[in-house]
Amino acid sequence: MKIIDEHVHIGQLGPFDMRPSYVIESMERYGVSYSLVSCGLGVEFDQEHQPLPNDWDYTQYSANLPAVAFARQYDGKIGVLPWCKPHTEGFNHELEKLLREGGNCIKGLKIHPFYSMLPMTAPEIEPYLSYAAEKELPVLIHTASDEFSQPKFVYEAAKAHPRVNFIMAHVGLGTDNNEAIELIGSLPNLYGDTAWVKPESGLKLIKKYGAHKLLFGTDNPIDGADTYAHPFYRTYFNAFQEWVTPDDYELLMHGNTERLYHL
Ligand SMILES: [Zn+2]
Repeated sequence: MKIIDEHVHIGQLGPFDMRPSYVIESMERYGVSYSLVSCGLGVEFDQEHQPLPNDWDYTQYSANLPAVAFARQYDGKIGVLPWCKPHTEGFNHELEKLLREGGNCIKGLKIHPFYSMLPMTAPEIEPYLSYAAEKELPVLIHTASDEFSQPKFVYEAAKAHPRVNFIMAHVGLGTDNNEAIELIGSLPNLYGDTAWVKPESGLKLIKKYGAHKLLFGTDNPIDGADTYAHPFYRTYFNAFQEWVTPDDYELLMHGNTERLYHL
């Protein structure tokens, strides 16, 4: 079975040591053939929503450059979702330079409303979505229950931009997933990923709205080179095969990501 992980990180971020070697090591160990990577150095505020330290001077270019370099080194195994900085920078020359130089490695955009302190409905997000529409790039968005990351904001953005495909990472992290599942089911350009999503919730989404709506993603290697050993991911790798049809399982583990991200 081909496995593609559409939600992977690199970068040293607070307690998280997400080095590229962990990504490669874990992919080999768990049979993942391709990863879409975003670099956590693109955060705009810290976990307490305080300004970052003065020596944290990554721009939209330099914060994403490590991911582009990683993709070049592992051509055919790694693609890049640049981590956007809509709050402190906006769609600027730094980002244009990154997108230009990244070329074919760039497969979509990553927006993290919590670390950017902006909901997806904010006007600062608009230029990114226009670009995504123009280049047919999907947008992967962190969703949770905090004031910036709520699924309903992604729904509003998706409704306003029918040509862009939006993927709700985590299907509402820290919730029972039900609100996000209903929203995902209500628009054709809204999807979810499995990162920290209880397999039972993943199954519910598939049974209710179809297997084309859910993409395998994990936040690997946020817990190190064995992030895939988490019971949720072991279930997606193993037991889940018995829960859905073979065709649906293929869509979940690679087909949807290949289709949406044009891999
Ligand atoms: Zn993530």
